[in-house]
Amino acid sequence: MDRFPCETATMAVPGAQLSGRIALVTGSTRGIGFGIAKALYAAGCDVMLSGRGEEGEQVAEHLARSGERGRVGYAAADLREHDAATALLAACSAQLGEPDILVNNAGVQHVAPVACFPDERWDEIIALNLSAAFRLSRSVLHGMRRRGWGRIVNIASVHGLVASEGKCAYVAAKHGLLGLTKTVALEVAGDGITCNAICPGWVRTELVERQIERIAAERGVPIEDAASELLRAKQPMRRFSTPEGIGDLVAFLCGEKAATMTGSAITMDGGWVSI
Ligand code: NAD
Repeated sequence: MDRFPCETATMAVPGAQLSGRIALVTGSTRGIGFGIAKALYAAGCDVMLSGRGEEGEQVAEHLARSGERGRVGYAAADLREHDAATALLAACSAQLGEPDILVNNAGVQHVAPVACFPDERWDEIIALNLSAAFRLSRSVLHGMRRRGWGRIVNIASVHGLVASEGKCAYVAAKHGLLGLTKTVALEVAGDGITCNAICPGWVRTELVERQIERIAAERGVPIEDAASELLRAKQPMRRFSTPEGIGDLVAFLCGEKAATMTGSAITMDGGWVSI
C-alpha cells in the first residue's frame, strides 16, 4: 500500500479557511489520520502529527514539504498510557502552541467472539479508542474556552451506531465515543466550541487490510476477492470511502460554515447503516 497516497497537494475545502489555527490529529502518521492532517494543512492550519512511533518524523517532513505555508510538528505517543495525553499536549504546545482543533482519530481493532475475547485487547481498545479521546478533550477545553473558539472531531465509526459480530470492544468503544461527543457538545455549547463525530464505513487502510488478509486466508481466495466480499457484506455502494474524503469533511466541520453543527454523528459509509 502507498504510504503517502495522493501525492499532489490537497485543495482546501471551500469555506474552511483555517489560517493560524493549530490542529492536533492523533493517529496521523498514516491512514485516515494522515488524510485529515493533509486537509487541515491545506486549509491553512499548523498541524501536529502523532502516532505510535513508526516513521512519524518522515511523514511530518513529507507533509511540511507539500507546499502549504503552515508549520508541522510531530510527537510519538502511546495513547493507551494514562499520562500520554498530557505529554502529547505539552509537545504540541512547545512545538506549535495550544491546539484550537483536536481530532481524536487514533484507534485499533481486534476481532474475536465475546466468549474468547482477550482481556488485554479489550483494555487496549477501550484505552485508545475511547479513554484517550476523553483525556485529550478534557485537557484542551480549558484553552479553547479561554480563546472562545474550538473544534473537537471524533473519528468514530458505523460501529458507533450498529454492531458487527466479533467486534465487542470496538463497538463498545465507538458507541461510547458518540456518547462522549454529545456530552461535550452540550457542555461547551455556549463557549464557541463544537464537538462532532464522523462515522466511516470501510476505508482501505492498514486497519482494514489486516481484516481483508484474514478473510483471504480463511477462504483461500485472492486479496481482491476478499476485499470485494468485505464490501458486499456491509457497504451497498461497494466502494471504499477514502482518507481524503474524511479529511475534507473534518475541514468543513472546523470551518465557520459549520459553526452551528455540534453533537452530530455524520456517516460516510456507502449506505452501511441504511440497510
Ligand atoms: P490505521 O491502522 O491505518 O492507523 C492508525 C493510526 O493510529 C496510526 O497513525 C498509528 O500510529 C496510530 N496508533 C495505533 N496505536 C496507537 C497507540 N497506542 N497510541 C497512539 N496512536 C496509535 O487506522 P485507520 O483505518 O486510519 O483508522 C483511524 C481511525 O478511523 C480509527 O479510530 C478507526 O477506528 C477509525 N475507522 C476506520 C475505519 C476503516 O475502515 N479504516 C472505519 C471506521 C472507523
